[in-house]
Amino acid sequence: MKLIFLGPPGAGKGTQATGVSSHLRVPHISTGDMFRSAIKNQTPTGLEAKRYMDAGQLVPDSVVIAMVEERLAMEDCANGYLLDGFPRTVEQAEALEKIAAPDAVIDIEVPDEKLLDRLTGRRVCTKCSGTFHISKLADEKLCPVCGGELYQRDDDKPATISNRLNVYHAQTAPLIGYYAGLGRLKRIDGDDRPEDVFHKILSSLE
Ligand code: AMP
Repeated sequence: MKLIFLGPPGAGKGTQATGVSSHLRVPHISTGDMFRSAIKNQTPTGLEAKRYMDAGQLVPDSVVIAMVEERLAMEDCANGYLLDGFPRTVEQAEALEKIAAPDAVIDIEVPDEKLLDRLTGRRVCTKCSGTFHISKLADEKLCPVCGGELYQRDDDKPATISNRLNVYHAQTAPLIGYYAGLGRLKRIDGDDRPEDVFHKILSSLE
């Protein structure tokens, strides 16, 4: 099954994508994670992406589309995949239709006022990439799952967050109408406990 997870930053796409992809046994492809790893490895794509990410802007379509096309051509994607964070513009969605049209698009919806708290309180594990909210952590520095060191993403700092939400509404939210028009959109209320959101997603795919 070829799936897309759509939704504003902080909606829980990453958390849900991890659970759903392992349940469906398809690779979880997060363009944000791909860029963060490219930055860590100081590749040319990473160096180009960094300045956009730090500003809360989208990386140019041509760069993202080329990276995703290369990734989807890999053998592990032959039986499907779950794309998390791509497409983010209508141009990317149109390019994806030509590469491999998705079967369903899960739109996880959370009101903006909740997103701000989720993003400023988010911590990510340097080892397992798990994400946690500080309100649920006994120790803000250590991953409760693997013991790795936790950090705050640069783009989760308040100055960048409002930019990312504006970019989402201006450039990514139009995809909701785009995929609804193609009859592939499943709208999920993401303002709920993660385990309940997970079950709602699975039932929407049945
Ligand atoms: P994420 O981890 O999905 O929140 O992505 C972090 C950042 O990576 C975004 O704010 C963008 O700067 C960049 N990024 C990730 N996916 C895309 C995409 N599909 N198109 C453009 N930029 C992206």
